[in-house]
Amino acid sequence: MTRAKVPFSCDCGQVHGTINEVAPNRGNLVTCYCKSCQTAANILGYTETLDKYGGTEVFQTVPSKITFLSGDDKLACLRLSPKGLLRWYASCCDAPLFSMPNANWYAIAGVNMARVDAANKDAFGKPVSFHATKSAQNPPIDLKDFGVKRAFVRLTWRALKAALRRDSGKPFFTETGEIAVAPRVVTLEERRAATPD
Ligand SMILES: [Zn+2]
Ligand SMILES: [Zn+2]
Repeated sequence: MTRAKVPFSCDCGQVHGTINEVAPNRGNLVTCYCKSCQTAANILGYTETLDKYGGTEVFQTVPSKITFLSGDDKLACLRLSPKGLLRWYASCCDAPLFSMPNANWYAIAGVNMARVDAANKDAFGKPVSFHATKSAQNPPIDLKDFGVKRAFVRLTWRALKAALRRDSGKPFFTETGEIAVAPRVVTLEERRAATPD
């Protein structure tokens, strides 16, 4: 199967680069309806990039498949709690870019599909999973979770292979595995105010 190099960009264009080796069998196209993803979009002011039920579409790959052409110095990191997921965004325009666990031994990056031009979306294939549809906003009756276990297995396999290759997760992590920039941890009040009902 052909693997594409797909451009991504923040909203204002200062942060941009490519997602490499994109193909339907090289990652998972997933929509997550969980409250944390909705809360993060609210805090960063990007609610309009959610789907009509509050879903965030991401392509799950490994960090080493992301290349920055400019603006990696504008990488900022949001956490909804001190140990929460690392939610990378662009400090220039607050656009959400990537989400990943804080563990370079489980190197996974969820590329926010709002950062990819609609014309290039075919390269990612069809959605393979919906997560946390219980937290969707006014969902239709047929909006249900699917593919969660399979997506997780595929993801873990990819993360293990990345760990074996000793991908350090740059530029998100340092060589010694530290988070490359100090994350902004939201306060409990801020999080509560931004959490959907
Ligand atoms: Zn920007
Ligand atoms: Zn989520």
